[in-house]
Formats: sequence, structure tokens, C-alpha cells
Amino acid sequence: MEKKIALIHGDGIGPEIVDEAVKVLNKTADIFGHKFTYTPVLMGGIAIDETGVPLPEETVKVCKASDSVLLGAVGGPKWDKGEGKMRPEAGLLGIRGALGLYANLRPAKLLKPLAGACPLKKETTEQGLDLLIVRELIGGAYFGDKRTFTDDKGHLTAIDEMKYSDFEVERICRKAFELARKRRGFVTSVDKANVLDTSRLWREIAHKVKEDYPDIGYEDMLVDNTAMQLIRNPAHFDVIVTENLFGDILSDEASMLTGSLGMLPSASLADGEFGLYEPVHGSAPDIAGTGKANPIATILSAAMMLRFSFGMLSEADAIEKAVDKALNAGYRTADIMSEGCKLVNCTEMGGIITDGLSAEN
Ligand code: NAD
Repeated sequence: MEKKIALIHGDGIGPEIVDEAVKVLNKTADIFGHKFTYTPVLMGGIAIDETGVPLPEETVKVCKASDSVLLGAVGGPKWDKGEGKMRPEAGLLGIRGALGLYANLRPAKLLKPLAGACPLKKETTEQGLDLLIVRELIGGAYFGDKRTFTDDKGHLTAIDEMKYSDFEVERICRKAFELARKRRGFVTSVDKANVLDTSRLWREIAHKVKEDYPDIGYEDMLVDNTAMQLIRNPAHFDVIVTENLFGDILSDEASMLTGSLGMLPSASLADGEFGLYEPVHGSAPDIAGTGKANPIATILSAAMMLRFSFGMLSEADAIEKAVDKALNAGYRTADIMSEGCKLVNCTEMGGIITDGLSAEN
């Protein structure tokens, strides 16, 4: 199979980690007889420096003409002072909107070799931790009207509008039920229906969608309770579906349960097969250029790309198994280092995972 991949290296550690993921993708293509071609495009701080805007039109054009997009990370202190729409993060919001990426998938799984890095009690982690957060990505408070003004009593005031329409809720809930079918078959829909109108609409639509999936278990849960249950009993969850702001916060909470940000992949999906794949973490400017970056989150994001956009399930499995193999053999980057393990840098970790790839894993 031939596939076109747009590559957004971005800022900070972005270029280092994307290079390692490409190494892994190329070896996977060799082993399984595929051809991946790559088109590098600019976004974020580097795009501001080179073109004057965080998301050049050319980038959107190339991404739309590709089968999927692999992104490192954007941002850094150099660009932190600009106005909102001229910051690197505006590129992120812009590309999600431009490509219609409404479903953000963040798996959080505690890998056995890293169980010690989980901040929860051993009795809790022994129950297992393997959940998927499906976050609505292009609606709600982040995309509603915003303004800051002085009200008629002279108070400086800010408003962020939180808005959802039925079709936005329906399509993300459907994605969650479909994904649950390929996992353990249970959906938790998270809202704040005791307070918010958007949440009451969310709950009504989620219940309607549920009728089409009688084989899938379902529950509603308030967001504050979900934040608690993630710590108390994370094994309870299979697929969590929720709106943009709640999903942003809960997925960061879930990610910390797995030990390190450097391990967590994500996918942002449009209708059909198209998706943008990126690690959950940011551009880590504090370690950029030092070789300390952990490339595993980006490598696992590439595996998600093969699974969700290209339907290459054995290939995705092979990458995940090669990551497990490297960790089981005791190789660690600095962020996940523990006693008795072998410290490696970003390039070495990418190389070890690449060498460990095999169709027979
Ligand atoms: P961050 O995720 O970049 O870093 C947080 C901490 O985790 C740092 O100590 C960093 O060194 C460490 N870390 C992150 N990824 C790592 C990796 N792969 N290997 C080893 N250690 C890693 O978050 P931050 O410091 O809050 O943000 C830095 C910049 O990244 C900011 O400009 C922020 O806006 C941006 N950001 C971008 C994205 C994105 O591109 N999707 C997401 C979050 C933050």
C-alpha cells in the first residue's frame, strides 16, 4: 500500500521525536511491503519565524492532500508574548478546525514495565489501567465567541461562549460507541448536566445514540465525579466520551496515571479515515537539543496512524510490541529512568525500537 504523510516537525523537541517515528515507520513499511512518502510542512513557532503566521495556507493544503498527518509539537517561550492568534498554539486550533478533526482519541494504558511510575496505590494499579478518552475537539468553549470588555459598572469582564449543537454531540458519541465495540464494550459519557444546558443536550443526544448500540454498556457520569473515579478506580473505565474542555482536563489527569507524558500518543480524527497523530506532550523547550526527549509517544502515535487511518492492524501491533520489547529489555530515556535500567537518548531509543521491529513479534 502507498500512503502520503504530511510531517509537521514543529518546535522544541518536535523535530527530534518526529525523526525517530519516521525511522520506525520506514522500517515497518520495509517489513510489510508498503511505501510511505512524506511532505514536511511548517506550523507553530517555526512557521511564525519563516512565514509570519502560525499556520500557513500551504500547510493546510498539503495536509488536505495527504492521507494523514504526523505532528511533533509546537510552541516555546520565544513566541509566548504575541497576541492569541499569532501564537504557535493558534496553529493547533486552526489545523483542527481546517481539517475537521472533531474526535480526539487519547489512550491511557499502564505498561507493566512502567507500573512503578504510576502515582496511584499498588492495590489500585493491580486492577489494571487501560482506558480511552474520546474528546470532542472543535466545539465548546475553545471555539465559541470570546471577548474581553469593560461592563457598564466599569469592571473588566471576559466571556467565553460554550456552545454545542446536536450533530456535534451525535458524531462524537457515535465514534465512542464504535471504538468501544473494538475494546471492552463500555462507554462512560461525561457531562455536568446538573448545571449546564450544553451538558443536558449532550446527555439527551448520547442516550439517543446509545439506542443504536444495544451491545455496548453505557453510563452517564458527572465530570467532577469522573475526576475522582479516575484516581479511585481507573479500572472501571473503558471508553470515556466528553466535550472539549472536560476532555482536555480529564485526559491530562489520565495521562499522569500512566507515569510519563513522554509515553502517550493521541489521534485526532475527521469523518472517514483521515487523521492527525501527535504525542500528548508539548514541545519541551527545557530539554530540546539535549537528546533527552522520549520519542515513544510519537512512535506510538505513528502506530495509531497505521491502525486508524490506514487499517494496518498487524503493522500497528508490530510497533507497539517493539516498544514493549525495548522497555522489557530495560532501555529507558531520562524521563522514565529507574534503578537497574539502561539510560539511552532519543536517537538510541528510536534505533532500539526500529531494530526490534518484526512481522513475527
Ligand atoms: P511539555 O509537555 O512540553 O513539558 C512538560 C514537562 O514534560 C517538561 O519538563 C518536559 O521536559 C517534559 N516532557 C514533555 N515531553 C517529553 C518527552 N517526550 N520526553 C521527555 N520529557 C518530556 O509542556 P509545557 O512545558 O507546559 O509546554 C511547553 C510548550 O509546549 C509550550 O509552548 C506549550 O504551549 C506547548 N504545548 C504544545 C502542545 C502541542 O503541540 N500539542 C501541547 C502542550 C503544550
